[in-house]
Amino acid sequence: MSIRRLTLLGPPGAGKGTQAKMIAAQNGLSHLSTGDILRDEVVRTTRLGLTAKGYMDRGDLVPDPLIIEMIKGRIAGPADGFILDGFPRTVTQAEALAEITALDLAINIDLSRETVIDRLSSRRVCRGCGRIYNLLFGPPTDAGRCDACNDELFQRDDDKRAVIENRYDVYTKMTAPLIDFYRQRGLLHEVDGSGSTEAVLAEITTALLS
Ligand code: AMP
Repeated sequence: MSIRRLTLLGPPGAGKGTQAKMIAAQNGLSHLSTGDILRDEVVRTTRLGLTAKGYMDRGDLVPDPLIIEMIKGRIAGPADGFILDGFPRTVTQAEALAEITALDLAINIDLSRETVIDRLSSRRVCRGCGRIYNLLFGPPTDAGRCDACNDELFQRDDDKRAVIENRYDVYTKMTAPLIDFYRQRGLLHEVDGSGSTEAVLAEITTALLS
């Protein structure tokens, strides 16, 4: 596969994390999720984590300079390749990224506001291995327990309804302009995010091979 530096765009709940994990594993790419990195900083109560937590709990974006500094050192060399998940989220971040490295492709996973709210309010995450479940579409076999490692499932604080609504509004205002940003640069590929995980993966895989 010649495409080895890509980003997944799309509203919260579009399935970026789930898809990015699968694509990274299938193609030997590093999976870089700014949300996962920040949550880890919060758990470790680092300086960045303590600053980021307030923004995250409200569903607001963490300020650009902090995010750009955080991602800079983590972007692997061109030989490895990476899939970015949740970055860039603003035009300023996209411009900073373009100075660090050139992307091969930006895939936008499209999903409506109503579907985002339904999906996120029923999302649960395993405390042990990070596997993502949806209580409506892909529940675990034992309620509240992970099928893979049997650890406890929890709801992210920012998956509560009021926060989800704010996250979607922030996405519309700050992140959706990136669709045009990458379209103008000939790097955009659009995918319908309303299908099953397998259907969306098949569409992305086709885009990567074309
Ligand atoms: P996510 O897991 O990608 O939905 O990210 C969770 C939260 O982390 C977001 O609601 C933001 O508060 C913060 N975050 C993640 N990525 C970024 C980013 N690229 N820029 C600013 N804030 C971010």
